[in-house]
Amino acid sequence: MVPRLSINRPLRAVFFEEEKMEQKLISLIKQLETKLKEIETINDLNLLKSEYLGKKSVFNDLMKELKNVSKEEKPTVGKMINEAKQTIAKRIEEAKLSLEQKMVEHKIKTETIDVTLPGKNMNIGSKHLISQIIEEVEDIFIGLGYTVKEGPEIETDLYNFEMLNLPKNHPARDMQDSLYISEEKLLRTHTSPVQVRSLLENKNQEPMKIICPGKVYRKDDDDQTHSHQFTQIEALVIDHDATLADLKGTLLFVAKKLFGEDREIRLRPSFFPFTEPSVEVDVTCYKCGGKGCSMCGYTGWIEILGAGMVNNNVLKNAGYDPNKFQGFALGMGVERIAILKYGIDDIRAFYTNDLRFNQQFRGK
Ligand SMILES: [Zn+2]
Repeated sequence: MVPRLSINRPLRAVFFEEEKMEQKLISLIKQLETKLKEIETINDLNLLKSEYLGKKSVFNDLMKELKNVSKEEKPTVGKMINEAKQTIAKRIEEAKLSLEQKMVEHKIKTETIDVTLPGKNMNIGSKHLISQIIEEVEDIFIGLGYTVKEGPEIETDLYNFEMLNLPKNHPARDMQDSLYISEEKLLRTHTSPVQVRSLLENKNQEPMKIICPGKVYRKDDDDQTHSHQFTQIEALVIDHDATLADLKGTLLFVAKKLFGEDREIRLRPSFFPFTEPSVEVDVTCYKCGGKGCSMCGYTGWIEILGAGMVNNNVLKNAGYDPNKFQGFALGMGVERIAILKYGIDDIRAFYTNDLRFNQQFRGK
């Protein structure tokens, strides 16, 4: 629909010039309205405004035409032109307001913060399960008065083997296929050399209670149950009267703390070069309570660690008199404890850094 000019037509015959001018003005407004629909910026609108209402606009020509209009028609035609001019100004003003509104809306849409949108999740790190178990075991032993000791991962053959009653060519070395760096240096195969270092550092030969957590290395082909790298925690007590009964009491306490207060332990005779006598320590199965299940191989018992009374040769090698000193040592694999506690079926999961695995043990 073409909007018609709101002109109060006089109640008399329509003159020719009047009719012609009205058509002209209507098409002018129509043309403007079409152009306004395509305007996207205030700048374009201003250009359009000056085209229609500026000094050189079409209205100047129309005013010139007015001079040629007859005297009778002049007032009506003049009024028509003015009214058309006002309509055009009004349309442009309306277009300006609508354009400004659109710009505000666009700004609101693009710049506002929608507080109802879900926030970005922060990736919060947590301790690796191995670190968690180490801390758990450390806490248990610190509570018993032990001190945490650490040592180098590259060790000498002397501290890793010889001082621990494993002389060169000792058949027990076959138990620990080792990663040698040179003839005399290797990646430690257990944390026991930290015990040797601690014994030697203890110049006054005071009684001592230490635990040594750390990474150890063996020449193993990695599979579900073997890893070339794993973590050990060893404990050593040296005193004048530390007995196997003290060792058993300590083991029972630790087993209950780690696997539950209802646990019992049993000691089976075993062999380690650095302890004499040596024992393997089993704990009653925490899944079946000792009745027998697939977890414990239907025996009711699960092997958790090795222990024993410190071999006299180890004491002698470190300069301690076996007639005045005795002690006990125990060693556990941290991965084994984690595997048993959380039912993990592949030791490689600890080292492959799959976040899906690690995240399961967040905050444990
Ligand atoms: Zn069981």
